[in-house]
Amino acid sequence: MDLQEKIRNIPDFPQPGIQFKDITTLLKDGKAFRLAIDRLAEPYKQQPIDIVIGPEARGFAVGAPVAYVLGAGFVPVRKPGKLPAEIVSYEYSLEYGKGSLEIHKDAIVPGSRVLIVDDLLATGGTTLATIKMVEQLGGTIVGLAFLVELSFLNGRQVLTGYDIGSLIQY
Ligand code: 5GP
Repeated sequence: MDLQEKIRNIPDFPQPGIQFKDITTLLKDGKAFRLAIDRLAEPYKQQPIDIVIGPEARGFAVGAPVAYVLGAGFVPVRKPGKLPAEIVSYEYSLEYGKGSLEIHKDAIVPGSRVLIVDDLLATGGTTLATIKMVEQLGGTIVGLAFLVELSFLNGRQVLTGYDIGSLIQY
């Protein structure tokens, strides 16, 4: 199955000039969704992963099922003001705009082996912010796994030294 065919391109969303890759068309196809999750999890089946992290919101949709497949826990990274307990936060830049992300302070215990999973790698800002928070809490990044990679935005360059995988590249 060609997973790339399941991705829908939406021109000028959320602002003019952006070619938005809509993954909801892949998620709603049961066979494509299962195949995508299995392929994301596959490289990590032979090594211990304690925690899968998914950044809000599409990172929840792909990260949580990968955690389930690996028998790992799932930890959400969220936009400001959403997490109820004590947090650490980090400011990041997006393909369009700036923001900050938060994680529960007790979500990562020192020495945890962490896999970060998100729907899409663009500039790498979201992932780098997530890495910084995990490392601040003493976690070890085992890998970074994405459904889609926008190669022309060179996100890999800000994430050098980490093991990066993506299923679909543009
Ligand atoms: P980055 O921080 O790498 O620049 O942007 C990646 C983050 O923005 C991901 O969390 C992703 O969900 C979101 N994002 C940016 N562009 C797109 C896009 O074209 N399609 C989708 N589905 N998400 C995007």
